[in-house]
Amino acid sequence: MFDGFLVNFVIRFTIHSLKFHFNMLPNYSLTHPRYEKMTYNRCGNSGLLLPAISLGLWHNFGFVDSIENGRNILRTAFDSGITHFDLANNYGPPAGSAEENFGTMLKHDFATHRDELIISTKAGYAMWTGPYGEWGSKKYLVSSLDQSLKRMQLDYVDIFYSHRPDPWTPLEETMATLDLIVRQGKALYVGISNYSAADTKRAAEMLRNMGTPCLIHQPKYSMFVREPEGELFAEIERQGMGCIAFSPLAQGLLTNRYLKGIPADSRAAKPHGFLQQEQVSEFAIEKVKKLNEIAQQRQQSMAQMALAWVLRDRRVTSVLIGASSVEQLNVNLGTLNTLSFTNDELQHIDHILNS
Ligand code: NDP
Repeated sequence: MFDGFLVNFVIRFTIHSLKFHFNMLPNYSLTHPRYEKMTYNRCGNSGLLLPAISLGLWHNFGFVDSIENGRNILRTAFDSGITHFDLANNYGPPAGSAEENFGTMLKHDFATHRDELIISTKAGYAMWTGPYGEWGSKKYLVSSLDQSLKRMQLDYVDIFYSHRPDPWTPLEETMATLDLIVRQGKALYVGISNYSAADTKRAAEMLRNMGTPCLIHQPKYSMFVREPEGELFAEIERQGMGCIAFSPLAQGLLTNRYLKGIPADSRAAKPHGFLQQEQVSEFAIEKVKKLNEIAQQRQQSMAQMALAWVLRDRRVTSVLIGASSVEQLNVNLGTLNTLSFTNDELQHIDHILNS
């Protein structure tokens, strides 16, 4: 009788495990032609190739968001050749939840594909209370990355960033910590974000002298935010670094999203969205309407033209987009069909942006 119970238990447990296993099995197969659809660009002078379009998890992946929607976006991204996913300790809300959700999805869907993925995270902004929860000290950066690895259930990230320069911590300490993290095997490469051209030069030189070259800079760059064209891009190029442009759609302003007001499900309408309603100004939308006419002549959507425009600069390795739906992601991937601009188009765009 005991034997019968045991056999029954083993059979039921096996069926349950198989069901669970099959539910969780990735849809992916090694023969999927995902990589043929994407363009890969070399990241500065490094050995690393990054997709021309990368996906960021700043919005739409927190506990406040639908995990099913996030999961569909990630699966579509990966199946379209997007190999790079960008996170930070504080993405959510609540802070940390984007990493935690990403870790769960990674485990269920991409566990067998870890070596095909470039996963980045960052530390620099406020993450926990007390004097050690933000900025650029060794204490904060090391603790924060350890927490990020736990949340994402990873042994290492591919890129770890200093998210912002710290005016009070010596740059030497912040850069020595990035070097340490690579030597400890917790990150393969390091990068900096929101650093000025002068700080980029100092940071890159320090890291090079320590034997850990600075792989990449992550600045904000779009048709509406052109400051990096001043000194930053030139410095990035001089240092042999790559560049990944964040918020290339100006958080959605450079799309057709706000052409007829502020939709209820848009970032500008959400209480936790970073795009403020004041930023959706008449002045900005008038420009977008004019830009959209050029996009239509190019047979592109506004979003596609805005992304192609960022990628027109050969110093930009990748555009780091956000998407709140699979549909948006697919539109944005269509950018790669029409990347080039005529001189007339570029001049016309400049004229609109400078008017
Ligand atoms: P984008 O400028 O690409 O804005 C993304 C938003 O634009 C989407 O969430 C969506 O908004 C809207 N959108 C996207 N595609 C379309 C489309 N085809 N049609 C209509 N609307 C569209 O980038 P993010 O501001 O999201 O930033 C991208 C990533 O950059 C972040 O996830 C993060 O990884 C990184 N980042 C880094 C920072 C740093 O300091 N280093 C700071 C900020 C971002 P909606 O929700 O309204 O649909």
